[in-house]
Amino acid sequence: MDESSVPKQRLSLRGARTEKAESAEVPWPVLVVDDDPQVHTMTRVLLRDFDFQGRSFEVLSAYSAADARELLATHPDVPIMLLDVVMETDIAGLELARYIRETLGNLSLRIILRTGQPGEAPERRVMLDYDINDYRSKTELTAQKMFTAVVSALRSWQHITTIERLNTTLETRVAERTAEFEEARAFAESLVELLPSPVWYKDEHGRYRLYNRAFREFFDIGPTCWHGCTGTEVLGERLPAEENDTDDMLLSGRAERMSYEMALPDITGMARSLMVSKSLVRRGDGGGGVRGVVAVATDITERKGLERELRRLATVDPLTGAFNRRYFLSAASQEMERAVRYGGSLSLLMIDIDHFKRVNDRFGHALGDEVLRKTVEVCRANLREVDIFARLGGEEFAALLPQTASAGALGLAERLRRAVAEMVVPLAGGDLRVTVSVGVAERSVETTFEHLMSRADQALYAAKETGRNRVEMAPVPAA
Ligand code: GH3
Ligand code: MG
Ligand code: MG
Repeated sequence: MDESSVPKQRLSLRGARTEKAESAEVPWPVLVVDDDPQVHTMTRVLLRDFDFQGRSFEVLSAYSAADARELLATHPDVPIMLLDVVMETDIAGLELARYIRETLGNLSLRIILRTGQPGEAPERRVMLDYDINDYRSKTELTAQKMFTAVVSALRSWQHITTIERLNTTLETRVAERTAEFEEARAFAESLVELLPSPVWYKDEHGRYRLYNRAFREFFDIGPTCWHGCTGTEVLGERLPAEENDTDDMLLSGRAERMSYEMALPDITGMARSLMVSKSLVRRGDGGGGVRGVVAVATDITERKGLERELRRLATVDPLTGAFNRRYFLSAASQEMERAVRYGGSLSLLMIDIDHFKRVNDRFGHALGDEVLRKTVEVCRANLREVDIFARLGGEEFAALLPQTASAGALGLAERLRRAVAEMVVPLAGGDLRVTVSVGVAERSVETTFEHLMSRADQALYAAKETGRNRVEMAPVPAA
């Protein structure tokens, strides 16, 4: 076949012009591998007048399988290869096909086998084993057949490379997302590790899955010691009941979030007060299923201590340790209400140190303070647990006696008066003694504490008037 027999009309596929302008100038490379130079000339002539998607064709010639390997090394993106079978050896072409698929890992290159005789098709086994995409007989190389074979091969090459490109993009994206996710996870993990508060996570069966450094330090355990264990398994009796109760509430879906206080001894055995906040963790699949419970504990031992101290300071007189006036009046009103509602006797003693001004004047304020402290000590020693004793101000005190009638109250007042009189405050030049006057009143018809207090006050005034170091009983008011 010579060049003159080649049809001169230009075969092209205009409709498929979608390539970019820059690639329009680059011809499609077609690798022809054949030891017969005539085949190369023929192919070149046939392809000269073709174009596909606006690009012409360019023949790359290899005259042996070895030649072809070299060409492929410099042109790895060749889309089509027209391959002869018998060259250096009887199967040089087939071995080249295998080399391309297996060694080069090139699965996109379309391989069109060219057999010597028409009707001499390669065995099916060969087509499959060597991943051959098409075959043509050398003698039926008309322009039309060549064009059909080449265009159909190019199309499948385009599909394959597009899919490969998409796969690569997808893989890159997945890798990027995985890296981002990994970074976020590492950030969250180090943040949780850094937190000074114990943080833990339990799965849907209430088993520990994660806990941070503060948690490990609190219980003096290693990073995975408690993994897969329940609180009861690792803490036994030490586990506060609230811990399991709240887990149950959350895991059964009866609550989303819970906060509570619990007391737990730390590794030194010291009782700690913990404020625990827990939240249900749901699955991220939109189904709303329960995944587990995450919790954070804040050590509020110090705060609780401060609160207790503040409460104490607000109710106690700092000099003597007795209750202060404010606390006494509020507690006394409650006792009064109780007595009015349920009956039961209630008595009040108003106690005032005699001539206390003189103590201060003669021995100084500091010694006066000491007398106040000692007086409180002596009075408290003579009172019951249920009695409420307070310093109302200066050197004036009060004792409220629930379930006590006048006889009992008088007896107690007398006992207090004597105890104070016998009290000795050591001094450089001899012992100091003080006395108290006491006014006593038992609740009768009055319903407010102020009334009761004013009657006791009057009795105290009477005791002072009639000589001091005395106990005076308030008369029963007229009904
Ligand atoms: P009377 O027998 O009539 O009760 O005489 P008195 O001197 O005890 O009573 P007065 O109310 O005249 O004086 C009370 C004194 O108590 C005056 C005040 O300086 C002193 N005083 C009040 N509070 C304190 C205190 O906290 N410490 C000391 N050292 N003295 C106090
Ligand atoms: Mg006084
Ligand atoms: Mg006074």
